[in-house]
Amino acid sequence: MNIIDGKKVSSFLKEKISIEVNQRKNEGKKIPHLAAILVGNDGGSETYVAAKVKACAEVGFDSTLIRLPESISEKELLLKINELNNNAEIDGFIVQLPLPKHISEQKVIESILPEKDVDGFHPTNVGRMALNLPTYLPATPFGIVKLLEEYKIETSGKHCVVIGRSHIVGSPISILLARASYPGNCTVTLCHSKTKDLKEFTTKADIIISAIGKPHFITADMIKQGAVVIDVGITRVSSTETKSGFKLAGDVKYDEVAPKCSFITPVPGGVGPMTIASLLQNTLLAAKESIYKKNSKVICA
Ligand code: NAP
Repeated sequence: MNIIDGKKVSSFLKEKISIEVNQRKNEGKKIPHLAAILVGNDGGSETYVAAKVKACAEVGFDSTLIRLPESISEKELLLKINELNNNAEIDGFIVQLPLPKHISEQKVIESILPEKDVDGFHPTNVGRMALNLPTYLPATPFGIVKLLEEYKIETSGKHCVVIGRSHIVGSPISILLARASYPGNCTVTLCHSKTKDLKEFTTKADIIISAIGKPHFITADMIKQGAVVIDVGITRVSSTETKSGFKLAGDVKYDEVAPKCSFITPVPGGVGPMTIASLLQNTLLAAKESIYKKNSKVICA
């Protein structure tokens, strides 16, 4: 059994990004600049955004954190997004989700210019991903793909079972792994809460990607010997072992599942660290203008 070390791979990716940023500095080119909009004071969102801002500093990016009150109207938020769309200093930006209930996430996502949508959530970028065109891949699926690549895991012809169909993880990773490329060429089965007899699918899977958010849901009897298991789930569970009183748990019952696997990601330290590294990679790409400027006639037509 091999443990996929997302911490190590993400450090390596960040190191490569920071070398490129230094080169850009030396050549007098623009330093990548990521902006993040945080609406309200949700604890989880605060932590995620703080980690993103910290990661920007680590690789030498500029970053701007825009905090807006929970009470902000949808219209005011859209105006702020429009400002960022038109601010040439900002290469890419994200709006941290979830948003307060009175704001439509879909409207917000669609108001971000696709060329600045470094989260890869805009319908244009989702469509480009599905068509295998250059685009910003959503950060978590991008991170998973990088891990498979880094560990040279064979995907062609493999049966991959993705559990969870969210727009940010399950659906995009199922599209990516079905594409005619590496990693890809999988035969993908996408499971969700309405799937009947999940075990029937998982026990036949060569690769399992679990993104459901239910701690320790995937047990050893659901896994085929030698399977690759990618655990995307992150749930806070209470714990007497830590000072904070909680720890992070994945979807997979790691201790019993790991011995059956050829490769497995731990939680924490697997997919999690890759998500931020992928966002940085997208922001670097946005600063290089390599996706949209070359194709701008196609995009804006
Ligand atoms: P989500 O939007 O809540 O989606 C969960 C998915 O799981 C849904 O498609 C749901 O099916 C499916 N599901 C729920 N119970 C199921 C069951 N018993 N059997 C089969 N499928 C079931 O979640 P998400 O945003 O994709 O996140 C999933 C997990 O990944 C969470 O723990 C989240 O914290 C974590 N996450 C981690 C990272 C990272 O960086 N590592 C990034 C993003 C998310 P229905 O569609 O039918 O409801």
